[in-house]
Amino acid sequence: MIRRQFLAALAFVVATPIAAWAEAPLKVVATTGMIADAARQVGGDQVDVKGLMGPGVDPHAYRQTRSDIVAMTRADLILWNGLYLEAQMEEFFHDLARKRSVVAVAEGLDKSRLRAHDDYADKFDPHVWMSPALWRDVVVEVQNALTQARPEAADVFAANAANHLAEIDALKAYADQALAAVPENNRVLVTAHDAFGYFGAEHGYEVMGIQGISTQSEAGLNRIGELVDTLVDKQLKAVFVESSVSDRSMRALIEGAATKGHDVAIGGELYSDAMGEPGTYEGTYVGMLDHNITVIAGALGAEVPQRGLNGKLSAGF
Ligand code: ZN
Repeated sequence: MIRRQFLAALAFVVATPIAAWAEAPLKVVATTGMIADAARQVGGDQVDVKGLMGPGVDPHAYRQTRSDIVAMTRADLILWNGLYLEAQMEEFFHDLARKRSVVAVAEGLDKSRLRAHDDYADKFDPHVWMSPALWRDVVVEVQNALTQARPEAADVFAANAANHLAEIDALKAYADQALAAVPENNRVLVTAHDAFGYFGAEHGYEVMGIQGISTQSEAGLNRIGELVDTLVDKQLKAVFVESSVSDRSMRALIEGAATKGHDVAIGGELYSDAMGEPGTYEGTYVGMLDHNITVIAGALGAEVPQRGLNGKLSAGF
C-alpha cells in the first residue's frame, strides 16, 4: 500500500513537469517594439515575448546588452527586422543564426515592393512598418515563424493573425482617408530622419528628413539650410519631431526659418522607429500608426477624429 502510494507520488512528480513543459509559452525575443507586438498579437497565450528596444530607443544605433544575449540564448525563436535596420547587430544575428532559430522578418518581403535609398547602395529602406500594406506581410512572416516553432498551435496562430490583419486593414483604410483630406499644398512631411519614405510614397506626400535613412548619418548645416528654404518657399507651417531621435536639429530648423521671418510650429511628436509606453494604446503597432496618421493629418489641416481611428489615443489631436 505504502509502496503503491509512493509510486503514485513518484509518477505525479515525474508527470507534472512534462505536462507543464508542453504548455509552457514559446520564448520569443524580438528587436523592435513593432516586431514584439506582431509576435504578441499572433502568438497570444502561446508566447512569452521579450522586446529588446523600448520606447525612445533608436534601432539604428542599438547594440545588444549582456542581458539581451542571455535572453536570446534561452529563446525558442528570435525575430529581427533585417534590411540593415539593426545595423550595429547585423553580424551578431548572422552568427547567432548558425546556432539558434533566428528570422529577419522584413527580409522575406518581395524586393520589388521595397524602396531603394541613395544613402544605402544595394540596400533598401528598412522602415517597412510605416506601410500597413507591407507590415501585414511581415505579420504573416511572424505567423510562419511561430508556426514552424510550434506546429501544434498552427490553428491558434492563424486565427490570431486573421484578427490582427483585419485591424491593420482598417488602419490602412483610415490612413488613406485621413491623409487624402489634407489640402494638396500641405502634403509635405518634414521629420528628424528619413523614416517616412513608404508612408510618403503611398499617400503622395513629399517626405524630407533632416538626417538620412539612418540616424547614424550627420545632419549637415547645408541640409538644414536647404530645408529652411523649402519651409519658407512652400510656406509650410508644421514640422514633426520623433520620439526616438533628438530634436536638436529640428530646433535649428525652426530657428533658421524664424530668422527668415517664417514661423513654423512643431506639429507633434511622431513614433518613427519605436512605439509608445508598454501597456498604452500607443505602445501597440496599431496605436503607434493611428497616432502618427492622426497627428500628421490633423497638423497639416485635415479634419480628424480627436482620439483617432479607434477613439483610444491618449493625447488626441
Ligand atoms: Zn529609422
